[in-house]
Amino acid sequence: GDVVAIIGRANVGKSTLFNRIVQKRLAIVDDIPGVTRDRIYARVEWSGKSFYLVDTGGFPNDDEPLLDAVGRQIARAIEEANVIILVIDGREGILPQDEKIAEILRKSNRKVIVAVNKVDEPMHEHLIYDAYKLGFEDVVGVSAEHNRNISNLLDIVVAHVDEETVEEDEDDAIKIAIVGRPNVGKSSIFNALIGEERAIVSDIPGTTRDSIDTVITYEGKKYLLIDTAGLRKKSRLKDDIEFYSLLRAERSMDRADVVLLVIDVTEAVTEQDKRIAGMVFEKGKGLVVALNKWDLLPEGQPKLGDSIIKFAKEQLYFTNDAPVITTSALSKRNILKIFDVCNEIYTLRQTRIPTSILNRMVRDIVSFQRLPSDGKGRFLNIYYVTQVETAPPSFVFFVNDQNLVDKPFERKIINELVKVGNFRGVPVRVFWKNRR
Ligand code: GDP
Repeated sequence: GDVVAIIGRANVGKSTLFNRIVQKRLAIVDDIPGVTRDRIYARVEWSGKSFYLVDTGGFPNDDEPLLDAVGRQIARAIEEANVIILVIDGREGILPQDEKIAEILRKSNRKVIVAVNKVDEPMHEHLIYDAYKLGFEDVVGVSAEHNRNISNLLDIVVAHVDEETVEEDEDDAIKIAIVGRPNVGKSSIFNALIGEERAIVSDIPGTTRDSIDTVITYEGKKYLLIDTAGLRKKSRLKDDIEFYSLLRAERSMDRADVVLLVIDVTEAVTEQDKRIAGMVFEKGKGLVVALNKWDLLPEGQPKLGDSIIKFAKEQLYFTNDAPVITTSALSKRNILKIFDVCNEIYTLRQTRIPTSILNRMVRDIVSFQRLPSDGKGRFLNIYYVTQVETAPPSFVFFVNDQNLVDKPFERKIINELVKVGNFRGVPVRVFWKNRR
């Protein structure tokens, strides 16, 4: 894939910029075969393109001789990168060392984008003018720390990146976050999932310092279990506080395709469980529920089991009938089924419904259902619908007047879409637009 390198002298904010870009983009820190290991690489996805971002990191301090150490770093960055982000400090302006680096880069024939960092407010925009004298066409004022203009920078970067994400993503790992309240059995399920017979491909550092991702293969498919750091060690201290586990869960969810919500069956579905499920849907992720510790239910009472599942589904009514698996990490009941169901939900979340089928659905709704009105005889009319996005599936309805749409009707439409697309456990987004 394409490699984008961040370079610049010390203290201009290279690492902050690196983290800022990586953090937001569902990126996985990964090794690329055949490149040096003393730097950090992350795969970044943006606007349908993907690239590896490299932080040249260990740059020497200002007082070290420039051209041996820095020169070597730059030479290597030039060698492996197609695009280079040259970071300068907008507050300090252009220093001789910046000019030196720019001079080397000008001869490199690489695409160079100058990021003038620490431009924290629009009124500081004049800080960037100075940077044009370095001789590069693309100059962007950003603030890595305050998250300003990072998307502009990325737009320019991907304009020079060739690799499309689409195909690669399909055989990429399915990213799963295992979340739930303390002591419901998350660690135990994780350990059962990675049972000896399944190969652990690698432990890769996640995007935060203390997070570890685990990649495993099962039946030829790759699964990436997100932030398993806390799940690996048995003793947990502060993490046991629900607040902390929720924060941590939220971070894991952001990077997941599918979230496995583990619930302790002996405690049924609590408010906190519902809150987590709601968060999964807000974030547009797929949801799979594991009712764990199933072995603790008294034997010979199948009706009890059925009524517990029914209760759980009722409590989680807003999850489009998310699949519920009854598991026991202890007896290994249904543990492998977790892979299959997560896989299924992952695929559903990526589904695109053909426009012809969507519009047949609309024709049925328009003919057979009562459409909302303004109470003065003006009814909503739906002209056309199209799916604009997958993961999560998102639809735009073109109508005569979007103000006529009320919540119950929108819910009804979402339910129809869920039926048509079989989007169980998958959030569906609906947007209304007036047809011009
Ligand atoms: P976590 O905090 O969610 O990671 O929970 P743990 O995996 O550490 O499990 C908490 C406790 O529940 C431990 O004592 C486990 O042995 C126990 N446990 C986990 N899963 C099961 C299960 O399926 N059945 C039974 N009976 N106990 C379990």
